[in-house]
Amino acid sequence: MVQTAFLGDVVLTTPLLVALAERHGPVDVVTTPAAAALLETHPAVRRVWRYDKKGHEAGLPGLRRLAATLRAEGYARAVLPHRSWRSAALAVWAGIPERIGFADAPARFTYTERVVRPHGGHEVERLLVLAGGTGNGERGTGATAPTVRLGLTDEDRAAAERWLADHGIGPGFVALAPGSIWGTKRWPGYGELAAQLVGGGREVVVVGGADDARLAEEVVAAGSGERGAGSGRIASAAGALPLRASAALIARAEVLVTNDSAPLHLATATGTRVVAIFGPTVPAFGFGPRGPRDRIVEHPGLDCRPCSPHGPARCPLGHHRCMREVGVEVVLEAVG
Ligand code: SF4
Repeated sequence: MVQTAFLGDVVLTTPLLVALAERHGPVDVVTTPAAAALLETHPAVRRVWRYDKKGHEAGLPGLRRLAATLRAEGYARAVLPHRSWRSAALAVWAGIPERIGFADAPARFTYTERVVRPHGGHEVERLLVLAGGTGNGERGTGATAPTVRLGLTDEDRAAAERWLADHGIGPGFVALAPGSIWGTKRWPGYGELAAQLVGGGREVVVVGGADDARLAEEVVAAGSGERGAGSGRIASAAGALPLRASAALIARAEVLVTNDSAPLHLATATGTRVVAIFGPTVPAFGFGPRGPRDRIVEHPGLDCRPCSPHGPARCPLGHHRCMREVGVEVVLEAVG
């Protein structure tokens, strides 16, 4: 499988990996360095090829080098859930004779098998059709409904427990994930939410990657200020733990408040309840939470929503009302 999309997309691909592994045995995966750690301990995965497409392997020379490495492995079949030219070219240049991808991909003419991508439904089921699934939550094999899962290890869980103990955070804490690669997907109310939670005696952990560390510190500062001066406690784990340990930390939370971004899918995979705030995107795109206790928070009525598949860097209308007008009290009520 070649899956070099964003981290959240890789998480949502894990049921497809499981379905392929059931049929063919553990799968080799080409993915980004950011997502590699999530897959290298996954039981459906045999080997992970790290492809740093934005770093030292950027451009055609890097792609050619990886293709030559894969060619030497003599792969029989490539599954291509990411509809990019780069993934298609990699499979062709690696000399992989069977190449399976979506019929609406720009590079579809390079595939040997084109599969119709379902229009509706959740992304997990849409991806599963590449393994012969129906797109209706069932696989053609007759196996049970798919579940997103991570290969967390005992070490990952121990690292999360150590971090929580070191910061004096006990069970039942609220996790906040204020970051997103896409600017307009970031809800600006996390600081105020943190202040109210801490003021109400809750323990709060801000989660994210190293890129989110500054934003996380701002949320911690807001939660530690005058308004947050209650009996609660707040700390930032953003950038402090490796990816799988971060997921293990989210697994220990009572609830995660998140934007439409990767932590939402990490929480789903670990069974943690989610409060997901949607702004420029909508759950109907197929990336929303689906647990019976999960909650979706979004602007009640705004004609410009949704305005792009990912959420633009800046609001094209300049007001960002889809997020600015989502009130803290609504999110607080969803947290419970
Ligand atoms: S155009 Fe509308 S949906 Fe898009 S970012 Fe602006 S307010 Fe949000």
